[in-house]
Amino acid sequence: MLRVGLTGGIGCGKSRVAGLFASLGAPVLDADTLNRELQTPGHDLYAAIVDRFGPGILDARGHLDRGALRSRIFADPAERQALEALVHPAVEAAIEQRLAALPETTPYAVIVVPLLFEAGWEARFDHVVVVHCEPGEQIARVTQRDGRSSAEVEAILEVQMNPDERRRRGDSEILNTEQTSDAELANQVAERDTALRELATTIRSRVENRPP
Ligand code: ATP
Repeated sequence: MLRVGLTGGIGCGKSRVAGLFASLGAPVLDADTLNRELQTPGHDLYAAIVDRFGPGILDARGHLDRGALRSRIFADPAERQALEALVHPAVEAAIEQRLAALPETTPYAVIVVPLLFEAGWEARFDHVVVVHCEPGEQIARVTQRDGRSSAEVEAILEVQMNPDERRRRGDSEILNTEQTSDAELANQVAERDTALRELATTIRSRVENRPP
């Protein structure tokens, strides 16, 4: 089974594109969703974070206060690294566990990782698809979706990878700009699905025909 990473800047349409892959039958995992799930009480990651950062990052119900945690790591690279050192292996293990549970005949699985390149995860994937739109569109979509200010979204864009660099590093690209109609977006995903299925078949037959 091919591991296909799906990445892109905030608000570029990763979830939308992931939904289209899922509608074509591809299994889709989302690193952010898994991370949030693993940070709820009862999970080892939750316990490890509380152990490292102390009870000050819990809310009244005993859940992690994501805002408090964010402000702890915001201005302190050492604290950020400490959190990432707990989060990354836990999310990776959860992804592996879920991939291992998929049927052996699955041609490829899509794993949505917003900060894939920033985290240095590209070597874990056979193919990385980058969803791209223009920065102005990211700001417009995210302010509308989340009610955040333009300045907030611009600050997030500042710390994310430069879009040209991300596009350069990806193996393929899906454009989701203002000019992209719903049908065009679906077409791009369908083309990528076909190419990935073909790639999976080629690799499988190469492995099966390898001399002993
Ligand atoms: P995030 O990085 O924040 O998780 P994302 O990359 O997953 O975001 P989506 O959530 O898929 O992006 O899309 C961001 C917002 O923009 C959503 O509200 C979505 O409905 C909207 N959106 C996505 N694509 C388009 C488009 N082509 N035209 C207009 N709105 C769009």
